[in-house]
Amino acid sequence: MELFERVAEPDDAAARRAVRPVVCYPVETLPQPDMALLLAARAGLTLVDEVIAPPRDGAAFRVPKGHFFRIVSVEGPQVGDMNLWNAEDLTERLFSGKTRALHATHVTTGNRLWSNLPHLRPMATITHDTLGWYGIDADGGSVHDVIGTRCDPYTNRLLSGDDYHRCCHSNLTRALAAATRLPMREAEGHVHDVVNVFMCTGFTRSTQQYFMKASPVRPGDYLELFAEIELLGAISACPGGDCSTTHSSDAAACHPLKIEVLRPADGALAGWVGPQRNGYRWPE
Ligand SMILES: [Zn+2]
Repeated sequence: MELFERVAEPDDAAARRAVRPVVCYPVETLPQPDMALLLAARAGLTLVDEVIAPPRDGAAFRVPKGHFFRIVSVEGPQVGDMNLWNAEDLTERLFSGKTRALHATHVTTGNRLWSNLPHLRPMATITHDTLGWYGIDADGGSVHDVIGTRCDPYTNRLLSGDDYHRCCHSNLTRALAAATRLPMREAEGHVHDVVNVFMCTGFTRSTQQYFMKASPVRPGDYLELFAEIELLGAISACPGGDCSTTHSSDAAACHPLKIEVLRPADGALAGWVGPQRNGYRWPE
């Protein structure tokens, strides 16, 4: 017995499928970062802070507006699930869905990470990506996705019936709670969909299911971003390790991730002003 009712194709099905796709958001009018200024500024950076996210654990970090930060691979291949908040107002946070819609499913140098509505402004601009060479592989996979949500104990319980306490959702919650002294339940409400730093993902060609494959990241690789506003960030060294097989368990080999905060030289950003919140107002 069929479990669903079949729907017959119309006679012009082929023609309907063959219409030309149109990119949803034109990029011509998207405000662009001053990459020449940022690339010049990144030539004279001074390391001012370092934070380690231990394997299967998270860490929070603060990045002053106008500083740079790097997520660095150390010791072994490892994927990191990253959240970003406005350090002065946690209700403004990364909007991975709109970042994906404005740029692509995977982000790299020149792309920006946008904040949620009604703020909708760039929180950070990617200024260097040592995995920028990877491109899009034969499976349609690429790195640093804004597709995935974060591994979490609720989905894990739904699918496996087990409780696992080191999911990225849990690690990000603990890191945010420690950084802000918010109660865990309250901190959890601020955790949001992530940038999957170093993770190699895509959609299967046949069924468009979200897939992962071993990250190409190696120690020394890093993703560098420029803080457009005062940032509070958190990153989880995913229990999936390089995400080649499984996550939400202690099965995979896991490694730490390092976050470096870097200050540009005095005067390197002369003339630069940070982005304002979106100016849209509801009609009175
Ligand atoms: Zn994870």
